[in-house]
This record gives sequence, structure tokens and C-alpha cells, in this order.
Amino acid sequence: MGLERDQLLPEIRVTDRELLRRREESLSHSERPWNVVLGCQPVSDGCLACLSQARLDVHNANAGQTVDWSRRGGAVELEQALTEPAAWTTPQRVVIAPLSDLFQPTVSALFVERVMKVVAAHPQHVFLVTSRYPRRMRELLQAHPPPPNLSVGVSVEDAASFEERVPNLFDIAAPWRHVVLEPLLSAVDIERIELPTRDILWPLEGIVQQYLGLDAQHQPQWLPKSDPLRCLPPLDWVIAGGERGQAPRPPHPAWVRAIRDSCLRRQTPFFFRGWGDYVPTRKPDPEDPALMVISESGVRRGRGAGSAINHFALSEGDVHFTRLARGDEPIQFFLDGQRHLGLPQQRPPQQRLSPADATLLERELQRLAPRGRPDRPA
Ligand code: SF4
Repeated sequence: MGLERDQLLPEIRVTDRELLRRREESLSHSERPWNVVLGCQPVSDGCLACLSQARLDVHNANAGQTVDWSRRGGAVELEQALTEPAAWTTPQRVVIAPLSDLFQPTVSALFVERVMKVVAAHPQHVFLVTSRYPRRMRELLQAHPPPPNLSVGVSVEDAASFEERVPNLFDIAAPWRHVVLEPLLSAVDIERIELPTRDILWPLEGIVQQYLGLDAQHQPQWLPKSDPLRCLPPLDWVIAGGERGQAPRPPHPAWVRAIRDSCLRRQTPFFFRGWGDYVPTRKPDPEDPALMVISESGVRRGRGAGSAINHFALSEGDVHFTRLARGDEPIQFFLDGQRHLGLPQQRPPQQRLSPADATLLERELQRLAPRGRPDRPA
């Protein structure tokens, strides 16, 4: 007779506890996790190594509760966590639900509203909330504009999710806005998004450039950026990083460099959160069972990627990665020998997106990619 799932659970928990410890330690340098909701429903490819369910299982185990398997895949609202910010005596940078998603459909609108009230009641702390459910986030935060000590962001993993999720941020009257490209799974042009209207949103410059139509040669034409359709406060912060977990998919260094360079060009603060559980190596060991080669187009080979061998004809741009060894943690935060720890700057109130700006923009962008459609389920 096969094992019941509950009999397998203790073993799962040991591994998950270790992964969770490392994930939460990686946050704790400068950020305090505020677990107001636990558990989540995967929404896209970037969710593959997510530890949200493991975090909920560990929480239940610590509370002496047996795991309710029927509830896996949804959120649990933690009423008691709402009082935690009042107990923090020094100002904190607080990450709301770092291993879950406050705006997933199974969190009630009422609970989100209560979280926003707690944020507003503690202006000494700066709160960050990041979501892969940007349409629900937009709907809920349009009804209740975010308090001035909240940075609102979207989490993306590739070019398609960047283009789909980021425009929603420009539809919310948030005083601070950020993008988290983690786990980064492909090259992403973070400077330019062509909207379904064919107008172009330049997120790092806060400009919407107007599409004029096709010229006589059937080439698309836009008004110059110097004569924008709309000017808005640009994104305040860009964060990028690799994947952590059992089978991480590391990002090609060229993708991270391109994001860093775009931020440098536009003077947007850039924070590199590290390569994840795989790091680039210049001295690959052909016998390394975890060795992985990644090409700039995103093809991963080598035993670490599930191939039978480690030996391939390499093409220009291929980079070797190996699993991060215990004690090597600091090297994973370096890109071209440097750490990138940019933080958003305080923006004067007149340069923040006001509710009136957001309403106007909403009207202008109302043909944004299929607005009626809910956030994509798994
Ligand atoms: S949306 Fe975020 S918290 Fe939810 S499963 Fe995906 S990565 Fe995890």
C-alpha cells in the first residue's frame, strides 16, 4: 500500500524549513517580513519554485494544526498579524506578505482594506507590497488609494509578464512604485512597453508616447518623446534577482546587465538581489553534477539542467553556473564585481502620481490589454 500524503509531510517539511530559513534570511538584512496572509495560488511560470505553500504548512505545523489539504492553493488571512507593526519600536522597511500575495483572489477586499488602514496608521514604517495579480491590486487600490508610506509593485519573470503587469502600476495613485524582476527567466526590455493602443509607455521616464499610425511606406510612426501624450512620475525602483529552490533556473548575466544599464541610463535606483541558488563560475568542473550552461537566448544545458552530460560545443555568450556552496553566500550578490543596492529616493509630493493623474491616465489607457480579463490563473 502506498504512503498517505500526510505520512510524507514530515520529510517535506525538513527540506522546506531549510529553504524557508534561507529565503527569510535573505530578506532580513534590511527588510522585515510581515506575514499577514499565507499560502497562494500560482499564477505564472515565475511561481514554479514559490515557497508560499511550504510557508503555510510550516505555520500550521508550528501552530499544532494538521495540514488541511483541501485548502492548499488558497490564502489564509492572519488576523493576529494586523497588530504586529504597532509593536516595532524602530522604523522598519516592511515587506507585506513576502511569501504570499495580498491581492490574490482568495484574500477578501475587506481584509486588504484593513491591511491598508494598518499601513496608514504607522507612518514611521515604509511598507512594500508586490503582486503577480496586478489587475486585482489596481481595482482594490483604486477604490482605496494607498497611503503615502506604501510602495506598490508588480513581480514579473519575463518580457511578456513585464508588458502585461507593469502598465497597471501607472493606473494606481501610489506614491511609490517598484518592479521586481525575480526570478528573472528571460531578457526584458524594461525601458519600453508598446500598449495595445500602440502608444508607447516608457516606465523609467514616465512618458506615454502617442502612436500616429502607419506612414505611406506602412511603417509605424509616433510623435516624438519630447511631445508626450502624458507625463507621469517614473518608476521609483527596480529590483532583479535569480531563483531559489530545488531546481533553480538562473538568469543569464547579459539580462541582468541590460536591466542595470537601463536603470543607470535613466537614473532609476537598481537593487540586485543576487543570482539565487546558482552562481556563475569561470572555472567549471566537468565532473560537477550541478553544472549548468545557459545561453543568452535562455537555453539551459548540463547535468544541473537535467542533461545526461556536461560537455557541449559552447557558443559565444554561453555562461557556466554551479550550485551555490554553503559559505559562498556573499558572492551571489555581485554583478561584474559590484554590489547594486540602490534604494528609492524621497519624491516631493508634486512629483507623485495623484488620484486625478491616475483617473486621467485610466481614461487614456482604457484599451490596455484585455482589461476585462482577470489576472491569469495557473
Ligand atoms: S503569486 Fe507569488 S506568492 Fe503566489 S504562488 Fe506566485 S510567486 Fe508564490
